[in-house]
Amino acid sequence: MKLLKRTRSVAIIDSALEAKIDRLLAQMNLKQKVGQLTQPERNSCSPEDIKTYHIGSVLSGAGLAPGDNRPADWIKVNDAYWAASMEKDLDHLAIPIIYGLDAVHGNNNVLGATIFPHNIGLGAARDPDLLERIAQATAREVLATGLDWTFAPTLAVAQNIHWGRTYESYSEDPKIGSTYSAPFVRGLQGSLGDGGVVACVKHWLGDGGTTHGVDGGDTNISMSELRDSHMPPYIPAIKQGALTVMVSFNSWSGDKCHGHKYLISEVLKGELGFNGLVISDWDGIDYLSENYYEAVGMAINAGIDMFMVPERWLEFIETALAHVSAGTVAQSRIDDAVRRVLRVKYLAGLFDKPRPSRRRWSNSEDFGSQLHRDVAREAVRKSLVLLQNRGGILPLDKSTKILVAGKAANNRGLQCGGYTIAWQGVDGNQIIEGGTSIWEAITQVAPNAELSENGLGIEADKTIHDVGIVVVGERPYAEGMGDIRVSDDVIVETDSQILGSLRVLEPYGETLELAKSHTEDLQAIKNITRKGIPVVVIVLSGRPLITDQELAETSAFVVAWLPGSEGSGVSDVLFGDYDFQGKLSFSWPSKARNIEASGGHNRVLFPVGYGLSYAKP
Ligand code: BGC
Repeated sequence: MKLLKRTRSVAIIDSALEAKIDRLLAQMNLKQKVGQLTQPERNSCSPEDIKTYHIGSVLSGAGLAPGDNRPADWIKVNDAYWAASMEKDLDHLAIPIIYGLDAVHGNNNVLGATIFPHNIGLGAARDPDLLERIAQATAREVLATGLDWTFAPTLAVAQNIHWGRTYESYSEDPKIGSTYSAPFVRGLQGSLGDGGVVACVKHWLGDGGTTHGVDGGDTNISMSELRDSHMPPYIPAIKQGALTVMVSFNSWSGDKCHGHKYLISEVLKGELGFNGLVISDWDGIDYLSENYYEAVGMAINAGIDMFMVPERWLEFIETALAHVSAGTVAQSRIDDAVRRVLRVKYLAGLFDKPRPSRRRWSNSEDFGSQLHRDVAREAVRKSLVLLQNRGGILPLDKSTKILVAGKAANNRGLQCGGYTIAWQGVDGNQIIEGGTSIWEAITQVAPNAELSENGLGIEADKTIHDVGIVVVGERPYAEGMGDIRVSDDVIVETDSQILGSLRVLEPYGETLELAKSHTEDLQAIKNITRKGIPVVVIVLSGRPLITDQELAETSAFVVAWLPGSEGSGVSDVLFGDYDFQGKLSFSWPSKARNIEASGGHNRVLFPVGYGLSYAKP
């Protein structure tokens, strides 16, 4: 794939454009303006509602898909919403709707899309150029479905691997995200117009720094730590012209980001000069106060410009209008927010684009194409980290007699993790169309490989098998449902200063120790090693795990993170066609006494930067 020419800082303010926006703003009444700031979930608002309430945007939440979830189904619905937004009469102005979704590792909601590794794997690859090509391919696959905007990239700098969103973070080290954010935004947005989609950097700010890694919890750190650890990746992204920023569910030292005027208006818009639009997260304003009126006022006045109010959108519109009538929200704040929304729409070329079905890339063959899958396969190869290779057991010879076992060996759903087709991900091969499971990839190149029937490796036999490959790890999860915590008492500590409420979801489990959370994995490994057959283990997971027992039991140990649909990237390296080049972007833990009590600070077994290769064993 060809890369766009590098651009220096991309300015998004242009006087001719601002004059155009002035003219449009002058024609708008208050209802039309507030409508532009409103983003319902598509299932709770019809095309008629778009017109009646002058709605500016819709989203599809993760896992919510139209029709049979094919590109054509998406184009069809976006056509209807777009047409409603473009009707013009005495009451309604023709302003194109902007349709967003979470294409966070490819256009991952849609059947048949290319699924790229989650960000944690890309962090291990240390390859900004690759990131740009992934973003470009993702943009194409979003455009193929007729959509305009993806809520990506996540720029979280996860500091505690108990956090369920660790896999959305490139690294615990802000430097890695800082080298990735501009290329990714450039790849997504391109030169906008008909070849790009709008990017959304998220979640502003400090989502990866919460105490105990509780999703949406409190990031209780000093201003300098917030700036040094969590802000750096945003700076190049904004310079690159990222058009939108999403606010985070978390609080900063007790104050919710969704109501944080200092962080949104002063730091992001003022200091960093961000001139695009700031969007709230899913119902994110609801947690500001039990009183919705108060919550809406706080959020608008803090500087949020567009409101992701999936179901409560009509109440939001009425409440916002009431605030303006009461003078508790200034007309000038509404005008500023609408200006930013219109600016993004103009810059994204939406005023010039035809209806979605007639757009250049709609339904294009690029969707799920071999070209894109090759980029994903390259990303998988580059993201693998080799932690152990005793006796140089890897690379394997293609003629080796291999027993392939483990619950994740033949399971593209587990490879893809959360945010794939369903919000919490899927299990099995069927729903992930295209690509290869790790077993499918191995059997394509190694004719003497055999798949363990129940995955547990009980058929291991030293007279038949030279080596076992066991693919183990976590099951898919997303957001708070991936948190690991001992009990609920860490969620709201007795002296909690958090203003507003928390959105707490059922956690994934209680421990980072794989041998405890997934006993079946160590069992499968032992079923093979006990027969005197050496094992190569491949771990699929959204974060580093405590794997002391698995490491002790096995000869080679490969971390594959959540590689996505292209399992062939794994076999490429296992059989030596390519070398390992991934380096840890998070430190890999070892069991320490009182891990839970130490708030996630485990002993470091392998530091950031660690990763063996064939060239440097
Ligand atoms: C997540 C966001 C996502 C949004 C829309 C929220 O729950 O925190 O990252 O963009 O949903 O699906």
